[in-house]
Amino acid sequence: MPADPVLVVGAGPTGMLAALLLGRRGVPVRIVDAAPGPVETSRAMGVQARTLEFYRMIGLAEEAVSLGTPTREVRIRRNGRPSGSFSLAEMGAGLSPYPYLLTLAQDVHERMLIGALEGIGVSVERRTELLALAQDAMGVTATLRGPDGAEVTARAPYVIGADGAGSAARKALGVGFGGGTSSGLFYVADATLEAEPAGDLTVGLGPDTLSLMMPVRTSGTKRLIGIVPPELADRHGLTFEDLGSRAEGLLGVRTREVNWFSTYRVHHRVADRFRVGRVFLAGDACHIHSPVGGQGMNTGLGDAVNLAWKLADVLEGRAHEALLETYHAERHAFAKALIETTDAAFQKIVARSALGRFLRVQVAPRVAPALAGMGLTRRALFRTVSQTRIAYPRSALSEGRAGSMRGGDRLPWVEGVDTHAPLDGRTWQLHVHGTADAGLLAEARRLGLAVHVFDWSPEMHAAGLARDAAHLVRPDGHVALAGATAISLRAFVDRHGLRFGPATLRDAA
Ligand SMILES: Cc1cc2nc3c(=O)[nH]c(=O)nc-3n(C[C@H](O)[C@H](O)[C@H](O)COP(=O)(O)OP(=O)(O)OC[C@H]3O[C@@H](n4cnc5c(N)ncnc54)[C@H](O)[C@@H]3O)c2cc1C
Repeated sequence: MPADPVLVVGAGPTGMLAALLLGRRGVPVRIVDAAPGPVETSRAMGVQARTLEFYRMIGLAEEAVSLGTPTREVRIRRNGRPSGSFSLAEMGAGLSPYPYLLTLAQDVHERMLIGALEGIGVSVERRTELLALAQDAMGVTATLRGPDGAEVTARAPYVIGADGAGSAARKALGVGFGGGTSSGLFYVADATLEAEPAGDLTVGLGPDTLSLMMPVRTSGTKRLIGIVPPELADRHGLTFEDLGSRAEGLLGVRTREVNWFSTYRVHHRVADRFRVGRVFLAGDACHIHSPVGGQGMNTGLGDAVNLAWKLADVLEGRAHEALLETYHAERHAFAKALIETTDAAFQKIVARSALGRFLRVQVAPRVAPALAGMGLTRRALFRTVSQTRIAYPRSALSEGRAGSMRGGDRLPWVEGVDTHAPLDGRTWQLHVHGTADAGLLAEARRLGLAVHVFDWSPEMHAAGLARDAAHLVRPDGHVALAGATAISLRAFVDRHGLRFGPATLRDAA
């Protein structure tokens, strides 16, 4: 009897990437969405370097970059007047093959994922809503309302609830979603302009407000996003005309036509659990953020990447079931830290308080260009915002140390050598930088583990790698075991029940 498919609920970016990664691994997968079709508004615009590094592993990075615009120059305006500019073009030079922030409209991004899913024969089942979930030792029973309005049940070995901020999956599990809502109201608008502005990203700072402007490349429009001034925040039926002249003044542009306008309150919440038994929460279903830092959607995509290979490994009998618990441990810790650090910093900048005003008008215009010009600070900023700093040092799957590498770290990218080239998003690999130990190589061969040996280069040392050290790399490009030896590799593999080599698919449990 064919295995029941893993059920992915929600075809936003998170659910689609999860379904794509499972499908690529040959795991039977079904993806449903309550809406009649994909949303056709631009929403999340920032695609971070770490997301593009994952996309590279699955052959999607080139397409994403070609559909978006790398942000090269940021122009700052203070109280409606130019106040400086700085370059983001090489912000992460030497740290990532994608050393910039890519702006890519979410609807275009989603269409790319739909195309990739269709490429592996998976279509989103639209107008199919999750109503309820019940689980037992063998699997999950989901109650769905189909396009004809009839309720049906579906069995799945595992369910991924990627059904957005109002997640029915989260509610069905009774998982808390603590946090808060910031007092400010945000607006988003896609507009055409009378004249093309200089620079890729414009930041307009004012005492009571802040606006950002970036290109929506495929539609030739600009995305404007900002704080609704406090005196307009309670106006019923607010339109762009109500705040247009202020936003225009702040950004130094004149809009010709506004194609889309929306307002929303910003929440910052993290679910208490990202996993309950056989049901996993991912994306906005388990964490929501301020839009200003461009972190929310990328964090959801990172969840999908973290979860999909673990589910595939467990379903294929290549790892102990305990591997699945590392999903909550790793991603919950990151989402929580994100909200407390990066989101909190952006929250201060957009706050209505006196501190917020001071940061916007006095500090940000002076400090941002200076920071961007300082090599060390620029690199630190890039690593944080691009999500290339994400590491899982406290995960049960992270062990060892070599040079400054610890288990759980992202495998560094080293320019020229291209240490990420062998990563494919699906296989465990042993990476050696320098000369490989013969005993370790023999053990890897015995285990059927793919080995990649790179000639040592001084740039590797600068990236934190130690000469002749070997690292066991997970399918998502994080190091599991740093400084592997034949003995530690064998012990690690035994402890987690890992099996490598050609697929030996067993029926889904
Ligand atoms: C107006 C607006 C502007 C935004 N602007 C920004 C921005 O500038 N920057 C930024 O970073 N982020 C922004 N966001 C947030 C960003 O869009 C989300 O972070 C991102 O879409 C999250 O992706 P997801 O796949 O986790 O969830 P979603 O994209 O919300 O997808 C969830 C999917 O689940 C489906 N669904 C819901 N309930 C059910 C159910 N019961 N059964 C089946 N399917 C269901 C929905 O139809 C939806 O397709 C914005 C959001 C909005 C609404």
